[in-house]
Amino acid sequence: MQLKFLGAAGTVTGSKSLVVSHGRRILVDCGLYQGIKNERERNWAPLPVPAESLDAVILTHAHIDHSGYLPALVRQGFDGPVYCSEGTRDLCKVLLPDAGFLQEEDARYANKKGFSKHQPAMPLYTEEDAYRSLKLFQPLDWNKQHELMGGLILRLRRAGHIIGAGSLELFNGKHVLSFSGDLGRSEDPIMYPPEPMPRADWLVLESTYGNRLHSNEDPLPELEKIINQTTSKGGTVLIPAFAVGRVQLALHLIQQLKDSGRIRREIPVYLNSPMAQSATDLFFKHPDKHKLTREDCERIDAGTQYVRSVEDSIALNSQKFPSIIISASGMASGGRVVHHLNTLAPNHRNSIVFMGFQAPGTRGEKLISGAETIRVFGRDIPVRASVHKLDNLSAHGDYEDILSWLGKIKQPPKEILINHGTPESSDNLANHIRERFGWEARVPALNETVTIPDAL
Ligand SMILES: [Zn+2]
Repeated sequence: MQLKFLGAAGTVTGSKSLVVSHGRRILVDCGLYQGIKNERERNWAPLPVPAESLDAVILTHAHIDHSGYLPALVRQGFDGPVYCSEGTRDLCKVLLPDAGFLQEEDARYANKKGFSKHQPAMPLYTEEDAYRSLKLFQPLDWNKQHELMGGLILRLRRAGHIIGAGSLELFNGKHVLSFSGDLGRSEDPIMYPPEPMPRADWLVLESTYGNRLHSNEDPLPELEKIINQTTSKGGTVLIPAFAVGRVQLALHLIQQLKDSGRIRREIPVYLNSPMAQSATDLFFKHPDKHKLTREDCERIDAGTQYVRSVEDSIALNSQKFPSIIISASGMASGGRVVHHLNTLAPNHRNSIVFMGFQAPGTRGEKLISGAETIRVFGRDIPVRASVHKLDNLSAHGDYEDILSWLGKIKQPPKEILINHGTPESSDNLANHIRERFGWEARVPALNETVTIPDAL
């Protein structure tokens, strides 16, 4: 069996690993590069393996940096099965068509305003391509052995993080090649912790927060302070949030503050992201997959105003009373939140609150680093709103969470291959693993191949 790193090597997005076993080619994760332009432009480079030569795709979870290249793969001729959990399939039904729509919308907008270098600007794929890719999904049960092609047996284990997220084990009859996927936190306000993985002879390990520890501070007092200070000035609190998981967490925290009278109950809370609304519906429909109770969900639902049409979204920007707006995407790199930033960032009365990881080069990362201007729709706008980052709300484990998950592997892995992180976070995690366990851990290069012996 061979493993080749086609993405997320030395960077946080674009997860794609090729596994070749007895001539069969399986792509583990099929993610888009996101973040800075240089990274996004990599989405346009041809894959080193032709799409039609792939036999199957396995997805660890539905986040776009793990699933968002799939419609492009289908556009290029892939038509094999896509294996994943049921939750991942359900979320991809929401996320992928939206990603296709956004690709088309961005291209249309760039053409209308004429700020693209490319004439005309083309989408990487369309909503239609996304719908075609959804027909290939074959959801699998958790914790069962599934026989795949190439003599491989696949097992999915829950990874916390978001609904449907899993770690994978691929057994070739002799060794287990495992993929951590994105690991959730040991203690998350709304998600369960990742399940332990007893065996991983070779392990591909994510390292988003490989160099950081989340603070243990309760985020509620800070959020309370920001909301009260902003609304008392007549301003708006804008929360860019990841549509899946973190939007629901933001709504839950705000509802807690209202229920306990720490912020005014009458402050309107708008959720302006059709995709996040669908993800929220899914969240409410699957009470067994997260920690929120049915009553929590009902209270959140009753306290939220859903903004559906584009007209209502535009109207939201011209309202004059204090409010809270939650909108995707979480790094402010696309989606409706960019229009809100355009209107709200130049005004000192407003606040912008980030909750999750901000990839280098994104507007989110620039804003939390104190940028005085940001580029929006081809022009620089001043940032006078106050910008905050709530530290303890990421959907990713920090390095202690990752190390405690690793500590449950029964036999030392032969090699741990660290990806899905900045070079600093991946190196740092490798050091921690060597120090804590004395295990072999390194950061593979893009397109590097690792050979794993087969059964005799
Ligand atoms: Zn993820």
